[in-house]
Amino acid sequence: LQDEVIRSEKMQMVSDMAASVAHEIRNPLTTVRGFIQLFGTVDMNPQKKAEYMRLCLDELHRAEQIISDYLSLAKPDPERMEDIDLNEEILYLSNVLLTYANYNNIRIEIEIPRDGSLCTRGDRYKFRQALINIGKNAIEAMPSGGTLELQAEKRQGGFAVIIRDTGVGMSDEQIRRLGSPYYSTKEKGTGLGTMVSYNIIKRMNGRIEVASQIGQGTEFSLIFPSA
Ligand code: ADP
Ligand code: MG
Repeated sequence: LQDEVIRSEKMQMVSDMAASVAHEIRNPLTTVRGFIQLFGTVDMNPQKKAEYMRLCLDELHRAEQIISDYLSLAKPDPERMEDIDLNEEILYLSNVLLTYANYNNIRIEIEIPRDGSLCTRGDRYKFRQALINIGKNAIEAMPSGGTLELQAEKRQGGFAVIIRDTGVGMSDEQIRRLGSPYYSTKEKGTGLGTMVSYNIIKRMNGRIEVASQIGQGTEFSLIFPSA
């Protein structure tokens, strides 16, 4: 019974989340549709028109951000369980982030064990989404360049993936708020990235530890039991 209660609470949480994300995407789309209709019916001076088009692009960009934080890699079939090789995923992550890192003057360093692979179980695409959201935040925390370290290592009874940046850092209060929806300190942030990552890692029976120093950087450790 206890399990069923927890399960139905989880389902409720997931459907609340989906509803609120759908709402967040619908808003910008409605705005854009309104302006496009306006363009077709009203004679508008070029300056106003340019201003409204800027607004449309901003709104579409926002919708795109929400989708990319929330479900860019989501696959239609529900919960697929497979073996995930952490070393492989770290290499994948560094490839995905490379352009964004270069653009921001950030060097990526990788440290993975040479002897044997580290494996955990879960849905590969969701796991990738979780890593990408955390990695993107690390890059965004280094506006004037820095180093992004990606690491996999063996831990007592399991494994860890570590994502470390030399960025702006966070206060204890900021760390506490991580994972709650719509918490963002960025002008164009969605506040969905860490919430999505935390949910995915939790469902993989993993946990997230955060250590941070203002002005020094931040370390996210994702810790998993061995498969
Ligand atoms: P968003 O990136 O859209 O702001 P997220 O949920 O991804 O939303 O992140 C929430 C907030 O957590 C960020 O706005 C930022 O303040 C903080 N944060 C997350 N990761 C880091 C990091 N590596 N360094 C500093 N702050 C971070
Ligand atoms: Mg983010």
